[in-house]
Amino acid sequence: MKLYNIKDHSEVVNFAQAVRQGLGRDQGLFFPSEIRPLSNIDELLKMDLVTRSEKVLRNFLGDDELADLSGVLRRAFTFPAPLVKVSENTYALELFHGPTLAFKDFGGRFMAQALQAVSEGQHITILTATSGDTGAAVAHAFYGIEGIDVVILYPKGKISNLQEKLFCTLGGNIRTVAINGTFDDCQALVKKAFDDEELKKAIGLNSANSINISRLLAQVCYYFEAYAQLPEDKRGNVVVSVPSGNFGDITAGLLARACGLPIKRFVISTNANDTVPRYLASGKWEPRETVPTLSNAMDVSRPNNWPRVEELFRVMGWSLSDLAYGAMNDDETRDAMRRLYKLGYVGEPHGTIAWSLLQDNLADGETGIFLCTAAPAKFKENVDQILGTDIPLPEALASRADLKVLSDNFDPDWNVLRNYLMK
Ligand SMILES: *Cc1c(COP(=O)(O)O)cnc(C)c1O
Repeated sequence: MKLYNIKDHSEVVNFAQAVRQGLGRDQGLFFPSEIRPLSNIDELLKMDLVTRSEKVLRNFLGDDELADLSGVLRRAFTFPAPLVKVSENTYALELFHGPTLAFKDFGGRFMAQALQAVSEGQHITILTATSGDTGAAVAHAFYGIEGIDVVILYPKGKISNLQEKLFCTLGGNIRTVAINGTFDDCQALVKKAFDDEELKKAIGLNSANSINISRLLAQVCYYFEAYAQLPEDKRGNVVVSVPSGNFGDITAGLLARACGLPIKRFVISTNANDTVPRYLASGKWEPRETVPTLSNAMDVSRPNNWPRVEELFRVMGWSLSDLAYGAMNDDETRDAMRRLYKLGYVGEPHGTIAWSLLQDNLADGETGIFLCTAAPAKFKENVDQILGTDIPLPEALASRADLKVLSDNFDPDWNVLRNYLMK
């Protein structure tokens, strides 16, 4: 598999390099040089998730990269992605049955396995800052992976108790540090580390961030899985609605369509951080200040995967005007959660926005799928308050609630962190 840098097409790398590097020159994103159509979609749809995913990804990777793809997938995809019928023509794709109850488990776990496979025994240190959720996905994805250490910084006292329990109780190769400061302090420290060439070399620093191509490839797989679970008489005119923040998830869906999965249309669903819906309506790219919302994982006003979406439309000869889109504020989100609950389905804010905008977009004779990116229990406080429910804590959370937090703790002091990383 060859990939080029969208900002400088002369920079071409293979899959292993793209996974290790993350970004290209000038912070440019890597993009596949060739997207081959899959010829045997009907056969693929009969397979189980892991078997099918191997075929789909082999089509991207070619024959000479990631020799142990099947092992990587077996270790990464250890949980299902059920498609749940919500009403006559509408289905929820539940992507939250992994260890941290969010779809990021798919990309994170695949990336962890792929990175180990391509690192050829070199020691790697993952350093990342989190305001809560990404840290958990990274910690669980890399937990127990030999040759890779993980250090996660988070602002002390500024993440929920449950969030802290979820990723600061693992131990082993996962070190967590509560920084006496803000999320911005944590991010500034991470940035310093990546500017320190000596340190970078010494500990094999890597960011494992959301821009890594391996995450997108992993996510392509569950669009096929969704389609495979549809009853055959519902497969004709499929519309998929994706709750979008950094636009990685929808990029993966569009890649699935590019290699032949017959999805008729995508709906871009955002909250009040609606840079892309406004852009598609007006042709003007005008990011505003990010505003906090109920669907906080989508509080992004400069979505970092958007250049990949545009690149894909360009190389496929598709028109951006084929994208449906919509944005919802918090009041509309609450109202939609109540309407969805009346249909018998408990949704959290992200997936519910996708459901509601899907309903606005769906025509007669079409089948809609909306992506449920997190478990309602992850947003228990809001969900219970809006719906008047008392939803149970899933096992993944409940089982960690009594464990001891193992985090270290220090001030946002670069020298202290540097010594800590060098140890
Ligand atoms: C990260 C996230 C999203 C947004 O996904 P992108 O790939 O960044 O568009 C949506 N919902 C939840 C729950 C998330 O954690």
